Order: sequence, then structure tokens, then C-alpha cells
Amino acid sequence: MTQFAPPENYFALDTTTVLDYCRQRPELRAMFPANDTLEAVEVGDGNLNLIFKVWANEDHNRTVVIKQALPYVRLVGESWPLPTDRARIEAQALAIHERLVPQHTPHQYFFDPEMCLSAMQNLNQHLIMRKGLTQGIRYPHFAEHIGLFMARTLGNTSDLVLDYRAKKEEVARFINPELCKISEDLVFTEPYRPTERNLFHEELRPQVESIYADERLRVQVAGLKEKFMTQAQCLIHGDLHTGSIMVNQTDTYVIDPEFAFYGPMGFDIGAVIGNLFLSYASHEVRTKDPDQRAEFRQYLTNTIIDVWQVFKREFQPIWQQVDTVNMPQGYQENYMLRLLQDAAGFAACKMMRRVIGLAGVEDIRGIEDVHERAIAGSLALNMAQALIMNRRDSFDISDIVAYATDQTPTYPWK
Ligand code: ADP
Ligand code: MG
Repeated sequence: MTQFAPPENYFALDTTTVLDYCRQRPELRAMFPANDTLEAVEVGDGNLNLIFKVWANEDHNRTVVIKQALPYVRLVGESWPLPTDRARIEAQALAIHERLVPQHTPHQYFFDPEMCLSAMQNLNQHLIMRKGLTQGIRYPHFAEHIGLFMARTLGNTSDLVLDYRAKKEEVARFINPELCKISEDLVFTEPYRPTERNLFHEELRPQVESIYADERLRVQVAGLKEKFMTQAQCLIHGDLHTGSIMVNQTDTYVIDPEFAFYGPMGFDIGAVIGNLFLSYASHEVRTKDPDQRAEFRQYLTNTIIDVWQVFKREFQPIWQQVDTVNMPQGYQENYMLRLLQDAAGFAACKMMRRVIGLAGVEDIRGIEDVHERAIAGSLALNMAQALIMNRRDSFDISDIVAYATDQTPTYPWK
């Protein structure tokens, strides 16, 4: 796999060499003056890359994150090579996000193409959103923030705003075949057929097998996969689940755009919605008290509704820039409706893959009791099927919420 070979002078850092590396970088000299003592820890809980947190003299205000791509999938090892070029894609996408929505993007100090790494702001006051949601923590500004993030990043990189030539050049710059292939396989292919890599719980087997056997469902998934592979609508984040979002009660930051490419807008919107629905399903068993459960779920569904409403509102400045002879009101309304229906479909695929496929999520797979885990998984699958099969009959975000929340778990089998 020589095409995946990293640059000639590349080497993978460790917690010692990363300190020398930081000392040598002129961009970090102001933060880390020459005689400071530096310390580092490696915190990568992700599947692919090395993440170092570096700080000076125990001063947690002078700190930086170094994210370095390895030439293989970390979770699996060297037997699964992966191009380090994804670090360039991530750095370039981060730079675009920082230009469009600096308040929701970690500041990037520099990108080093030889070492396939970026230095960025250490979000040490923030938590991965998925962790907060599993604990039942609410984030009151999240919908406002992520709605704006998506409207700006998706709208401004589409043909609605970019010049014809710049758009095509951007499509070329963000060609990301190997990471797209991971999504094509893990989101759109493997969950719908028996494969070795699927990793669902045995308790769910009857429900998973009925999904394998469901040709009407596979027709829908194939259509969404085609859209994912062929619709170069705008620069999408490509992996915008709640594990790529860091939050606290005041801020929201989007990290980890290494899957970025020119794809369908609905994929990012669907990732956000689908992951909020996965949290909804998990609280079927995670929150025992019925009133508390109902309240937290109300928060989640209100957030889903608000995400879409804010997205639509923040997309208005994009529509104000278009030629209304070519794109009259009726077209604009149809565009937004297709987006909503795409988002429901992609949300569903994202949910099914997290229950059936190789890479699960903590919300569901982290539930300790197998019986409870199966209940939450079963509900998530039923919600997803309702979303994907009814999306063409959904004309408003409230329809989508209603289709999903009408569902109950099929497990335990009667
Ligand atoms: P991967 O691409 O390998 O999945 P991520 O970019 O998702 O890596 O980062 C893995 C983990 O490292 C995150 O879940 C988060 O805990 C931590 N992390 C990543 N970037 C930052 C950052 N800028 N500030 C603080 N923590 C971060
Ligand atoms: Mg990643």
C-alpha cells in the first residue's frame, strides 16, 4: 500500500518527543518560552489518531493539543493502513471552519505536512458532548450553536455561494477516498447484511436479521448511499456525531473533521439529529425515573427541533445571495424540504450502524446490563426504521420527531 506511505521525514511522536517538537516550533515560542518545563499526556480515546495535550510549568492556560495522524487505524493496528493525507484534509477543513465560525472551532496554530499533525487550542474546559448526554446533562445553547455552525459551514461552501471554478477546485482539494470508503462500508453497506465486522449484541439477533431481510429498507439505504457518493453539494464535516462536539454550559466546539469532503449537506444535519435520537433511545434504560426520563427526552426532542429551526433561519443569509430568477422561492423551499428528508434518512443510517455495525457508541454499547442494552438498541433500530421509511412523508421537523418518538422497543421478544 505504498500510496499510503507517510512523508519521508515523518515519525510518530510520543509523550517525550512531542515536547522537543513543541519547543522547536516558532509558532509556539510565545506560549512556551525556551526555559519552561513542558509536560505532555496522550489522551486519544478516538479510533484513529494520536492526541497529545502539552502544557507549560503546570500552567493549564498555556497549553496546546497536538493531533497526529498515524499511517494505520489505531483501533486495529498496522494491518489496516490509512493515508496520513487525512491530516491535511482535517487541517484545511478546520481552517475553513475557523474562518466561517471561529466561535465554534478550536483555534489552529499551524499544520505540519511532514509530520501530518496540527497544533490546536486545548479545549480543557469542555467535555465530549456524548459523555454529557449519557449523564443527562443539558446544553441550553447547543441547538443555537450547532445550527449556526452547520448553516455557515455548509451554505458557504456550496454552489449557492462559491464561484463555479472555486467550487470545483475545492471539490478536488477535498477528495478523501479512503475515509469516504470507511463511511460507505460502515454506514451504508455492512449493517444491512451479515458481515464479519458487525458487532451487535446476540440478544438483538432476531431484529438485526429482520433488517438484513428487509429489501424495502435496503432500497432506501442504497438511495442514500448513492447520494453520499455522488452529491458534491458542499464541504461536509463527515463525522458530526456527538463525539466530535465538545461543550460546556456556554460554548460549543466542533472537532475532528478528518472525514470532510464534498458531500450532501443532509449527512451532517442527520449525524447531529441521529445522535440526539440515539441518546433518546439510551435513556429508555439509562434514566430510571419516568418523570426525569420524560423531561430529559423532551429536552432532546426540543433540541432536535431547534437545531433544524436555527439551521433554517441561519441559512436565510445564504438565500439572500442567490439569483432569484434561477432559484425562485419555490425552489428554495423545495431545497430545504429535500434537505430535511435527507437528514432524516442519514440520521437513520447513522443510528442503525451504531447498533449493528463495527463502531458502536457509548450511549448504547456502554449500558452494562445486557438486557437493558438490548432494549435501548431495539428502540434505536425501530426509531431509525421509522425515520428512513417515512421521511418522504415528513414535511416539517416535528413530523420527524413524531415518527421517531412513536416507537417502542421490540425486545424482549413476545
Ligand atoms: P480521532 O480522530 O482519533 O477520533 P479526535 O479528534 O476525535 O480523534 O480526538 C480524540 C479525543 O481527544 C477527543 O474525544 C477529545 O477527548 C480529545 N481532543 C481532541 N481534540 C481536542 C482539543 N482540541 N481539545 C481538547 N481535547 C481534544
Ligand atoms: Mg476522528
